[in-house]
Amino acid sequence: MYLSFDLGGTNIKAGIIDKMGNIIIKQSLPTAENKDVDEILQQFIEISKTLLAKAKLNQQEIQGVGVGLPGFIEADKGLVIKAPNLGWENIHIKQNLEGLLPYPVFLSNDANAAALGEMWKGAGQGCKDLLCLTLGTGVGGGVIIGGQIYNGRYGLAGEIGHFQVNPHEGRKCNCAKIGCLETESSASALIFYGECAVKKGEKTVLAEIMKKKKKLTGRDVTETALHGDKVALEIITNAAYYLGFALANIYTVVAPQKIIIGGGLAGAGDILFKPIIKWFNNFSFENIKGEEIIFPAKLGNDAGIVGLAKLIEQGVKNHAKNSCLD
Ligand SMILES: [Zn+2]
Repeated sequence: MYLSFDLGGTNIKAGIIDKMGNIIIKQSLPTAENKDVDEILQQFIEISKTLLAKAKLNQQEIQGVGVGLPGFIEADKGLVIKAPNLGWENIHIKQNLEGLLPYPVFLSNDANAAALGEMWKGAGQGCKDLLCLTLGTGVGGGVIIGGQIYNGRYGLAGEIGHFQVNPHEGRKCNCAKIGCLETESSASALIFYGECAVKKGEKTVLAEIMKKKKKLTGRDVTETALHGDKVALEIITNAAYYLGFALANIYTVVAPQKIIIGGGLAGAGDILFKPIIKWFNNFSFENIKGEEIIFPAKLGNDAGIVGLAKLIEQGVKNHAKNSCLD
C-alpha cells in the first residue's frame, strides 16, 4: 500500500492506493490557511492516522509516502526549491517528513505526478513516453520518458505552460516572460479575454453573466461557448490554436506516444479538442499528420494521488536495488 498527499494551495488530496493502482480510501481537506510548512506536515500526520484507521490498516502495510506539490523540486534530495503558491523556498520536505513518519518519502511536482497517474491507470495506459497537460487556473505540464518522470535541471522540465507562444504581442506571465501558453490557454486567460470582450461591448451572453456576478469563471466561458455564443467560441478557439501550436513544436523534441490533456477546461470537450487537434496537425511533421495522438485525461482529480503511488513504487524498487549493490 502507498500513501499519497497531493498538496495544493487550496486543498490537500490524500489517499491510500494499493499496488494495482486502486484507490482504497481517499480524503480531501483545506490546506492550512497560513501555508506554514510545520502546520501542513502536521496535517499530513493527522490525515495518515485517519486514513489508516478508516481503511483498517496498520503502519507496516504502508511502503512509502508520496508528496506532490505545485513547484520546482529536486526529486533526488526531496527538496522544494520554490513553490510560489505555497510561499515555500528551499524546504527539505523529504527530510522533515521522514523525521515524523516511519516511511520513506518521495517528492514530485504535482503535474508530473498526475502524468504518471494517467500513464499507470488513465488515458496513457500501455505508454512509456507521454506528455500531459493540465488546463486549470494555469497550465501544468508533465513529461514521462521510459515510464519515469523527467524532471530536468532544477525540476524545470515539462513546464509546458511557460512555452512562449506569443512573445511579441502577448501578455506578461507570472514567470516574467511574455506570451507564455498559460497567458493564452488557461482558465485565467479565458476569463481575461471574456472580460475584455464584455468591456469592449461585444455582443455576448458573457456580458449578462458579468452583470450578475461582476466577474467570470473559466467555466462561464466554456459553457457559454457550448451554447453557441460566437464570442466565447472564438476565445476557446484562440486558446486551442496556441495549444496546438505549442504541442506540435514540443512534439518535435519528445515525440511521445500520446499527449493527454486534463484539468477543468478539458471538460469543454470537442469545442476545445477539435481545434487543438486541427492546429496540432497543421504544425506537425507530415508523417504523423492525422494520427490519433491527443486524448482527454481519464482520472480527473485522482491522477495526482495515483501517480504518487507509482512514484513510491518506483522509488522503493530503486532503493532496494541500490541497497543490494551496497
Ligand atoms: Zn510563463
